[in-house]
Order: sequence, then C-alpha cells, then structure tokens
Amino acid sequence: MTPMTLLTRVRGDITRQHVDAVVNAANSSLLGGGGVDGAIHRVGGPEILAECRALRAGRLPGGLPTGQAVATTAGRLPARWVIHTVGPVYSRAEDRSHLLASCYRESLRVAAELGAETVAFPAVSAGVYGWPVADAARVAVRTVAAAGGDGPFAELRFVLFDDRAFAAFDAELQALGPQPPGENR
Ligand code: ADP
Repeated sequence: MTPMTLLTRVRGDITRQHVDAVVNAANSSLLGGGGVDGAIHRVGGPEILAECRALRAGRLPGGLPTGQAVATTAGRLPARWVIHTVGPVYSRAEDRSHLLASCYRESLRVAAELGAETVAFPAVSAGVYGWPVADAARVAVRTVAAAGGDGPFAELRFVLFDDRAFAAFDAELQALGPQPPGENR
C-alpha cells in the first residue's frame, strides 16, 4: 500500500459507487446470477452481458476459474469497468481462503492494468457462497492491504450491503492499526 492509498468502507450498494472499477462477485459462467451479480447486470444493462458472452465465445470458453478476474465495460453503472471475479464456495471441510484471497489480488492486478485508481469491492463469497462474514472480511482486508500497493490506487473501497458485513469489515480495518490522516473514514 502506498501512503496515498485510502482503504475505506461504506455501507451501501455496489451499483451506486462512482469509482473507476467495481468488482462483481460473479460465478464462473459469467452469464449472470443473483446478489451482487444480478444487481450489476440489472443496473448496468445489457452491454455488460454482451461482453461477458464475447469472453465466453473467445478466450474463456470454459468460463472464469475460481479466484481469477476479468474486466468488461460497466455499461450504465457510474463506473468505467466491472471486474468480474469468482469467489470460492465456502467449505467447512477444506480451507479455500487462498482462492478468496486470489479474487482480491487478481482483481487488483486487472484494475492496475486498466489504470483504475478507485476500486469498489463487495464482500466476495459472503452471500450465496456461504462464507462466514467475519472470516471473509479478514481475508479481504488483509489481502487488499497487502496487495494494494502494487497499483496506481487512490482509494480501495469495501462496499457492504448490511450492518453485519459493515461491522466485520470495519473491525478488520481498525485492526490494521493507525492509518495516515484521512484513511478509513
Ligand atoms: P457470492 O455468490 O460470492 O457469495 P453474493 O452476491 O451472493 O456473492 O453476496 C456477496 C455479498 O454482497 C453479500 O454480503 C451480500 O449481502 C452482498 N450484496 C448483495 N447485493 C449487493 C449490492 N447490490 N451491493 C453490495 N453488496 C451486495
């Protein structure tokens, strides 16, 4: 993290974020789903799905693997790009946190390639994919704090849909320790 990168959190809707790139908690088909994915396609309009279909017809015939990320237009969203990433389904039997961390790292890598300076993330895997939100927050915040320094980022924002998720991310961000002035407001 460069000293100038703000790590922030808001309670809100990912489709209303005025940022360069919003991250989508997609599924590997890239052809839409519920939760964040449904909202992004609903609000962003058909251009996003058209680019997803083109990716499936081109370089991703088998879909996007878990832990990877790929960008499309953001259509009518107040952002320039959507970065689609596929979170792992939570498993009690198997530790898949490296795949969840990979979602954030790969999304940041794609964002940096695009030149996105502001990026908004949802709580990947913490919805339908069943990840306990406190642990999802721990993986998300630690990974973004560690990997966010490799890009041109001014602000990396976590967007949490409900109070519980917000509290979990807030606690993890506070646990990072003192931040330069203006951070984490
Ligand atoms: P996954 O399938 O990866 O679990 P979901 O979209 O089901 O993804 O949920 C991920 C998280 O995003 C959950 O905490 C859910 O409450 C939250 N969420 C759902 N809709 C939105 C939205 N429009 N903006 C921000 N977060 C959302």
